[in-house]
Amino acid sequence: MQTLSLSQELPKRFGSLFEQQFNHYKNKADFVAFKMISETTRDFTVRNGKPDMMHTFHDIGVLIEIMKDGHIGYGATCELTPDGIAKAFAAAEKMTGVSSKYPVAKFDMSVRPKSIGQFKSQRQTGLDQLSAAQIYDFLKKTSLKLKVNDKIITASAEAMVIECRQKYMSSQGANFEQDFNIIVSAFSATAQDGAETQTRSLHGGRGICLQIGSEFFDIDRTLAECEQTSAEALELLTAPNCPTETCDVILAPDQMLLQIHESIGHPLELDRILGDERNFAGWSFVQPQDFGSLEYGSKIMNVVFDPTASNEMASYAFDEVGNPAERKYLIKDGILQAGLGSLESQYRSQISGVANSRSSSWNRAPIDRMANINLEGGSHSLEQMISEVENGVIMYANRSWSIDDYRRKFQFGCEIAKQVKNGKVVGTLKNPNYRGITVPFWKSLKALTANNTVETYGSPYCGKGEPSQVIRVGHSSPYALFNNIEIFGG
Ligand SMILES: [Zn+2]
Repeated sequence: MQTLSLSQELPKRFGSLFEQQFNHYKNKADFVAFKMISETTRDFTVRNGKPDMMHTFHDIGVLIEIMKDGHIGYGATCELTPDGIAKAFAAAEKMTGVSSKYPVAKFDMSVRPKSIGQFKSQRQTGLDQLSAAQIYDFLKKTSLKLKVNDKIITASAEAMVIECRQKYMSSQGANFEQDFNIIVSAFSATAQDGAETQTRSLHGGRGICLQIGSEFFDIDRTLAECEQTSAEALELLTAPNCPTETCDVILAPDQMLLQIHESIGHPLELDRILGDERNFAGWSFVQPQDFGSLEYGSKIMNVVFDPTASNEMASYAFDEVGNPAERKYLIKDGILQAGLGSLESQYRSQISGVANSRSSSWNRAPIDRMANINLEGGSHSLEQMISEVENGVIMYANRSWSIDDYRRKFQFGCEIAKQVKNGKVVGTLKNPNYRGITVPFWKSLKALTANNTVETYGSPYCGKGEPSQVIRVGHSSPYALFNNIEIFGG
């Protein structure tokens, strides 16, 4: 007999109740949608070869959305019984009634399309085929590899193995299911010598975030990467501090991920631009009239919203109100084209948007979110890019960030930098930081490496919304050269 993992078994167990209850309620408002989300997360941390944390978390629940007289309301429950559904439906009706007294818009059915289909994220072998013992064994080996000598005081290997399923049905006739296998994995080595402590990690604190199956756990590749990570942590102990000056900066893809996230992704969210987020996550320097005309960056800057990318963290076929996912330019040849706005935000603002209505789970309403926001490659090789730098640095792997509420001024710190003089790498620098102002910074973008150098990262922790929602996003980028950037040491 085949055994099902809980992420498969729970939706199966509640699937018939879900459909039966949806059919019972589907005509009780102008529009009714039921969404079930089931998620199993296995989370492991191994420190210095010993287990530090291991837990498994199962979550399943239903979000009910209704529309009455153009107003949308939500109710949710993890009590998967007719009684639990009845309470959630009553909560949605109550919310719709209350919200109709304070309308931001009177929506029609165009914001809830009839989408039918299925999506299964890219994988060779499902994560359900992977035992806890196999994951632990992999992390133990990598953690021990990171601890090359006594100067490495902490060698940490972590993996979050996520299986998620969504099912959506609406009275408009929408009916789709999506099945995601996701890995978030981080490896880091902290080295200490006297008063000096330095941490180097594989691609920064967020590590690797991908939609992928158990083929991710390639031990030979990861051990080689861990060896390099520890060697760099030790090298940083004796490296000079990053100087304070204005010079050329090459940002590696594992720093670009946060540069894109904070200074392109968040400011382009239409709900922010409309002011919905100003009490919490903030506003944006971008104005509604900027779409189609604002010179956001230099002519080589091309940024896409792409939930259709293979293996990237936030790929899907439909957003959570059934809007079909499409690749779309947000910025083309440096000019701002479209916002990160769902069908509702597009309806309110009349600004071109994308399929990005997403929630963190069944107990949150979907809002405007990033998915995969990617910077397209250029024509340089990395060697060519370095050869064009007379005086500058290459910065790798984000370790700190600060950006204002309008997403205008920012400051980022990286784990390691390489100093470049007269077109050649001449040494390693510790504590590198840089700062800038969003639009002038992107206008100083002078070169990008080619598409075959693009690397894909992401984050499981993009926070936004009231009540708070933490969501998964993906970002891919080539190496990028910026002229005249202020850099400084720690
Ligand atoms: Zn974020």
